Amino acid sequence: MADAVFILGAGASKECGAPLMADFLDVADELRLRGKAGTDVEHFERVFESIAALKSVQAQMALDTYDLEKVFSAFEMGAMIGRLGSINEPARIMETRRAMTRVIARTLQATVRLRFSNNQLAPAPSYSRFVELLVKARNPAEVKRPIRPAIITLNYDLALDFALHWHQVAYSYGLSEGAPNARAIPLLKLHGSLNWGSCPKCESYVASYDLGAYFKNYTFRPGFDDRPIEVELDLGDRLQDLRHEECRTTFPNEPLVVPPTWNKSDNRLLRNVWRLAAHALSEARYLVFIGYSFPETDLYFQYLLGLGLAGDTRIRRIVVINPDSVAHDRLQTQLSPVMRKRVVHLQGGFGHSLGDLEDLLELESVQGA
Ligand SMILES: [Zn+2]
Repeated sequence: MADAVFILGAGASKECGAPLMADFLDVADELRLRGKAGTDVEHFERVFESIAALKSVQAQMALDTYDLEKVFSAFEMGAMIGRLGSINEPARIMETRRAMTRVIARTLQATVRLRFSNNQLAPAPSYSRFVELLVKARNPAEVKRPIRPAIITLNYDLALDFALHWHQVAYSYGLSEGAPNARAIPLLKLHGSLNWGSCPKCESYVASYDLGAYFKNYTFRPGFDDRPIEVELDLGDRLQDLRHEECRTTFPNEPLVVPPTWNKSDNRLLRNVWRLAAHALSEARYLVFIGYSFPETDLYFQYLLGLGLAGDTRIRRIVVINPDSVAHDRLQTQLSPVMRKRVVHLQGGFGHSLGDLEDLLELESVQGA
């Protein structure tokens, strides 16, 4: 299915404004304090009230209540066991879990904004160049040995989805079983996405809001003066447009997003996505980590990576694009000595590293192309 797998973490979306996991709740709190929580103000209040309730846990163990992944994981676990720090009302904890998905949607929509260029919305430059690289890399008219790319992302935001849509590159989320479109680039969002929802009635049907359909339903126009204006893609607030016909039900505006340590019920909804990711990893000859920091909370993904790479001799090269050397060091400790020699660390930012990446993927141009 794929011979080059690109694995994207929060650092990849940082260049288009998304907060990193460690800053996420600070940014959310700032929105709340500046009165920018909009209709989600109650959800913000609930989340921060529950974080305060986690303080009683901190007396016994170190829990970083600023880190989104850790707090979200604690909420998830709390929803399962019916207890969250000093709160022991299961219904209230379930509400907190739901409120968290709204806080994530609101915060990402407010920070990952799109700008107008020549009267139309333009993708973030780094993702746009990344998509151009993918288009070139798989085109036999341009490169001598084309590659089949697959993207695995741990991000919930839609900046890359929009860049693919904008460049008219077909992509497939792999949410449903069955043969995926062979021409579509797999875009496997392991932790869910702001434009994914699930049917509240049967709780087993998942669907995504297609960007093409969204832009037919909602139009964006640039401002009248010369200033570039920015807009937010509010797909997370429009999930009610989606329906499960069989159940005759519309979806709630609760994006399907899960923390890195998720429970079995979410596992069921995202199973096909994870299966496709494992399959892509098992065939990869090139692995490229972009802005992924190998966080300790992300154990599921690290198991997936380990299982996917089981027969590691076929890997030609592993590229780590991250200005921070911690990510590179963490990866090194997880690899065998043979694999360690194949790792190349690019310390520039995402957009700036793409030229070097082309060489590392051995994309030799066809003469005269
Ligand atoms: Zn249903």
